[in-house]
Amino acid sequence: MTCDILIEGAAVLAMDAAGTIHAPGYVAITGERIVALGAGRGRDAPEAWDAPSIIAGSGLIVMPGFVNTHTHVAMAAFRGLGEDVPDRLRRFIFPLEKRLVTRELVRRASEFCIAEMLRSGTTTFADMYYFEDEVAHAARRLHIRALLGETVVDFPSPDSAEAYGGIAYAGRFAAEWRGDSLVSPCFAPHAPYTVADDKLRETCEEARRLGARILMHVAETEAERDLYAARGTSTLRHLDSLGCLGPDFVAAHMIHVDAADIELAAARGMGVAHCPASNSKGGRPIAAASTMVEAGVRLGLATDGPLSGNGMDMQGIVGLYPKLQKVRLGRRDVVSAQDAVYAATIGGAGALGLDDITGSLEPGKMADILVADARSFSMLPVHDWYSTVAFSMRPSDVAWVLVGGKIVRDRSGLTTVDEEELLDSIIRVAEDCRREQAGL
Ligand SMILES: [Zn+2]
Repeated sequence: MTCDILIEGAAVLAMDAAGTIHAPGYVAITGERIVALGAGRGRDAPEAWDAPSIIAGSGLIVMPGFVNTHTHVAMAAFRGLGEDVPDRLRRFIFPLEKRLVTRELVRRASEFCIAEMLRSGTTTFADMYYFEDEVAHAARRLHIRALLGETVVDFPSPDSAEAYGGIAYAGRFAAEWRGDSLVSPCFAPHAPYTVADDKLRETCEEARRLGARILMHVAETEAERDLYAARGTSTLRHLDSLGCLGPDFVAAHMIHVDAADIELAAARGMGVAHCPASNSKGGRPIAAASTMVEAGVRLGLATDGPLSGNGMDMQGIVGLYPKLQKVRLGRRDVVSAQDAVYAATIGGAGALGLDDITGSLEPGKMADILVADARSFSMLPVHDWYSTVAFSMRPSDVAWVLVGGKIVRDRSGLTTVDEEELLDSIIRVAEDCRREQAGL
């Protein structure tokens, strides 16, 4: 049988419920979807697969593309600024954004940041920011799957002259992009401490009326923990009392949670975006991520924004997750390499409510695929596929990336855009930012 693209001779990590590995194995793709996969070579399979486009090689590892469950891609424009400012969000980031964030900056910085993610094998991301319709255009141009949350906050923001203008903005965005094959518009109430209770309730109701998901920073800061503790509750129980939590709700961070919160998160079927790099850079405690997974919480991994976590490749996160959980619990035998790769792929897809279409390699699912070349100084020798992916793979080891059956990256780079154009563009954006700051 003929398919569009045949990947063969590679080690195939399906990341399905059975933990299937075919080494060597093949994956056959037609249109947007995986049509078959199995052991051996596709051409030797009973269907005798053939394709006009063949990716082959004995040193290749084929796995689902990474799912980055929490980002702010447009903040790539500010990467490296104000690194060690205390109370950075209120004293540095919010004023900076007020001055500098424009529609054009969001588009150009998002394209640049999405390029970094695609080059390193991320095929799905969930974003929270302003002008998310511009992020949507960037996602379409570079061809990446995206949940895009328009920010709702209690002060005028770069894309809204009024406080809470994000609710109406998100509504228009959701209507405009409804049914898109790559982009899912979402509502992103910034955090419990920047959105009043009645507005939070309204935001969640409006999102659900439109069938959009809700992305939010939850239980990230000490101040937030103390605020709700003084009221005899917790951030999560407070959000639950407002009717926010559900399978369509994705909470980033979830650091300050207790056993009852974890039970509640599992019961509500909500997703959690665990951000080990940005949390450690912010000097925050290590979130009880593995405890949440054991309790049945749908947990994925995330870089957070380029200003908080800097590197946007998931290779920098997938190994850090088990390392920090081992530190937290003082034990070596928690969070295996396989658990880590699971969280970075199908776990993240589950947290975002997309595990029916992506996150694992199974017939019928979208062909969102990372192909790494293990014949490299970082990855060889390969004794354990999961260990190699979790701890050894570097962004430069990624050789091909497919999103929805389209090859968006090959050995020479991105296929959808001119990489030099994006590099020049971010340099100009950064120069504009510096000029703007100097002029104040
Ligand atoms: Zn964030």
